[in-house]
This record gives sequence, structure tokens and C-alpha cells, in this order.
Amino acid sequence: MSAVALDIEKTHHWVAVNSYRVRVAAFALVGIPIALHVLPRSLGALFWAVFLFQFMVYPHLMQWRTRRAAQPEKAELDNLIVDAVVSGAWAAGLGFPLWITVALFLAALLNHTIMRGLPGILICPVALLSGALASTSVIAFRVSTDTDGLVTLSSIIGLAIYLSLMGVEFFTYIRRLYEVQGAVAAQKQVLEDANAALHDQISKIHDLQEKLREQANRDSLTGLFNRRYLEGTLEREMARCKREGAPLTMLLLDIDHFKMVNDTYGHQAGDEVLRVFGQLLLENARTEDIVCRYGGEEFLLILPKMPLDIARERGTYLLTLFRDSIVSFGELRIRITTSVGVAAAPEHSDSAEGLIRCADEALYLAKHHGRNRVVTFGDAIKDLPG
Ligand code: GH3
Ligand code: MG
Ligand code: MG
Repeated sequence: MSAVALDIEKTHHWVAVNSYRVRVAAFALVGIPIALHVLPRSLGALFWAVFLFQFMVYPHLMQWRTRRAAQPEKAELDNLIVDAVVSGAWAAGLGFPLWITVALFLAALLNHTIMRGLPGILICPVALLSGALASTSVIAFRVSTDTDGLVTLSSIIGLAIYLSLMGVEFFTYIRRLYEVQGAVAAQKQVLEDANAALHDQISKIHDLQEKLREQANRDSLTGLFNRRYLEGTLEREMARCKREGAPLTMLLLDIDHFKMVNDTYGHQAGDEVLRVFGQLLLENARTEDIVCRYGGEEFLLILPKMPLDIARERGTYLLTLFRDSIVSFGELRIRITTSVGVAAAPEHSDSAEGLIRCADEALYLAKHHGRNRVVTFGDAIKDLPG
């Protein structure tokens, strides 16, 4: 691929490169019939010096000019005009010998149209005509259509060779372009495949990152949100409720004598109890509720926009649900009770930290007053059932 791409770079001024070869061939080929045409006229040394310069030196001189030009492409297009002017001048100067004129004019026209496209059809005849006019203004206008067999034959053969060379030149060039096109298309496919693979990888990485983020926020035993997640979320939820003028309540649940569950039934049975109650909490939550495993056997529920009395009822409901549920673990049937602390924002505190402290104090009271009960922060201790 890189070798072909380099090739394009080298032939960037394709007009300059191709036109040079075409010019050398064209002038050499048309020079032969012209030499044959003028030979019988025994012209002097000056003519032959001009002839040699024109047909042998001039094409290289033009190439030298092109190579030195700041814009080779443009310089070569200008050279083409000079070629046509010179061709017109030679045709007129020689008296328009039929096949030599055809060869000169056709070669000029072909060069122009190939290198310049459509405008060449207009520019070339003008240049040929100006050359012819210039020549006739110096040498008198005359017409001597030389139909000598050798001149005609050499003109036609020269023209045929020239056309074939042109064909080969452009066939080679076009084939190389196709090769480059093929290489570019193949490379494009490789890049597209690589791009697709890269997108695939990026999307996998995003999924993985999402999973990791999710995992970092989840407790591995119960699948509930963990304390880490709670830290940012509680503040955000409190701010949102505050903005909307809505309450936010919190339930802190702690399984009673959980240590005994572990001691009696084993740690794995204790794990199962935590899993089952975690699941129960999830099943009984609203979409907007946030259910966290706050500590070992402590669960914290954030209940946005839930008034305190409803939250308290919810606490009682969950307490009853836990108490009435039986956890099966192998042959074992485990029953537990829970204590629940309730606190609400903004009544009890309008900070996340303060609200948790209030719920914790309420929970402590629930424990202190016999467990298996719901206590709201600020409840008068004497009102609590003993
Ligand atoms: P209280 O009624 O006062 O809350 O008593 P408690 O026994 O429930 O409380 P305590 O804080 O004394 O004990 C909590 C126990 O929870 C101790 C610890 O071994 C257990 N625990 C904490 N995390 C896990 C866990 O992931 N799996 C199991 N099986 N037990 C756990
Ligand atoms: Mg505890
Ligand atoms: Mg406990």
C-alpha cells in the first residue's frame, strides 16, 4: 500500500511527466516526414540547425522549463500552447503539406485534449492558427500539399506510432490508477474493520465500567445498595425533596439478636437470613425507594416524598412481615424479629448525617425498650410499650 501511495506522489504532476514523453515522441516522429519533405529542396545549414533544434532539442528544453517552474503543471500546460503555435508555424511555413499538417495538427489537438480536457478543443486551434498566421506574416502564405509517397507514408506511420505510444502511455497510467484504487479500497476495508472492532471494544469497556460501577455500589451478599452508594445518594435525595417541598423519611432496621442466629444455626444460615430479608425489603419497596444494607444486619430505607405517618406504618408493616416470615435453610426453619428506627426530614434534621443519627437514636430506643418494635425519633419514651 505504501509503495503505491508513494507512486502517486511521484506522479503528482502527471501532466508534466506524461506530456514530456509524448512531446519527445511526437516531435521526433513528425520530424522524419518533414525532413523527407524538405530534403529535395536542398535548404541551407541554417534551416537544418533550426530543424535539429526544433525537433531534437526543443522538447527537452520545454521539459527543463517545466522542471524548474514553481508550478510544473501550469508550466506544462503553457508549453502545450507553445507546441501548438510552433506546429502551426511549421505547417504554414512548409506550405501545409497534407499529411504532415494532419500529423502536426492531430498531435497538437490530442495533447491538448488529453492534458487539458474540453478547453483544449478551443485553445489548441487558436494556438495553431496564431502559429500559422505568425509564420505566414514572416514567410509568404503558400500552399503546396506534398503528396509524395514517402512523405505520406512516413507521416501516417509516424502518426500511427505516436497514437499507439499515447495509448500505451495512458493504458499504463490508468492501470496504475486502478491498482492504487484497489489498494485504497482494501486499506479502507481494513480500517473500517479495525474501526468496527474498536467500537465494539469501547462499547464492551463501557458495559464493563457500568457493571463495575454498579458492583461498587452493591452489597455482594444481598444485592442491595451498599453504604458507599448511600453516602452520595442520601444527600442528593434530601436536596431534591427539599427543592420540591416534599418530606423524606428514613427507616433503619436491625435484626434482633442476630448474633444468636449465627451462634445457633451457623454463619451460613445467618447469611441466608440476610439474603431473604434483603429480598423482602426489595419486593416491598416503591420504585423511588432506596434500599441499602447499612451494616452487618442493619438495613436502611430511604423513602423520598413519604410523610412520617405513612413511613411509620411502613415500618410496622415490615416489622410484622419479618416477624411472620420463616427462613428455610436446609432442614432449619429460622424466625427473627426486627427493631425499626424512623426519622424524617425536615422535621428531625435537614442534613443527611443528622437524619441517620436520629434514625439510629430511634433504633437504639427500640432496642432498649425490648426490641421488635418501631420507634420514631422524638417519641416520648414513656409512650413506648414496655
Ligand atoms: P441486637 O438485637 O442488639 O441488634 O443484637 P445483635 O446480635 O443483632 O447485634 P450485634 O451487633 O451484637 O451482632 C450482630 C451480628 O451480626 C454479629 C455479626 O457476626 C453478625 N453479622 C454481621 N455481618 C454478617 C454477615 O454478613 N453474615 C452473617 N451471617 N452474620 C453477620
Ligand atoms: Mg446491629
Ligand atoms: Mg441486631
